[in-house]
Amino acid sequence: MSKKEKKVLKMPNRSERSKKTKFRRVAGSKSKRIFVKEKTSKHKCALCKGLLHGVPHGKTSAEVGKLSKTKRRPTAVFAGILCSKCRHLVVGEAAQVEAKAKKFDDVELRLQYYVKNVKVN
Ligand SMILES: [Zn+2]
Repeated sequence: MSKKEKKVLKMPNRSERSKKTKFRRVAGSKSKRIFVKEKTSKHKCALCKGLLHGVPHGKTSAEVGKLSKTKRRPTAVFAGILCSKCRHLVVGEAAQVEAKAKKFDDVELRLQYYVKNVKVN
């Protein structure tokens, strides 16, 4: 590379500023800056923040939308929202409230929203 061809660093575009970049070697022993897509985080339980199983991660919402329904979430009560441990807790409380063994006001405040929304047949 001669002195005249010296690389000039440009100001990045506004949209490119926050994107994650990597340098890749291209033909002619030159390197080029490429934009890498960042993976989305794993889904967490709404109550205990534990990792959820059976839900896709590392995909954008557009990519998740193209998946089949069964690949998006498991089929269970509050699947994709609560982990199995918390789901057991909520369903147990809901059953006690339904059987009038426990008053709704006695249910833990953090569980009340979920207990209220459990559909008991
Ligand atoms: Zn949980």
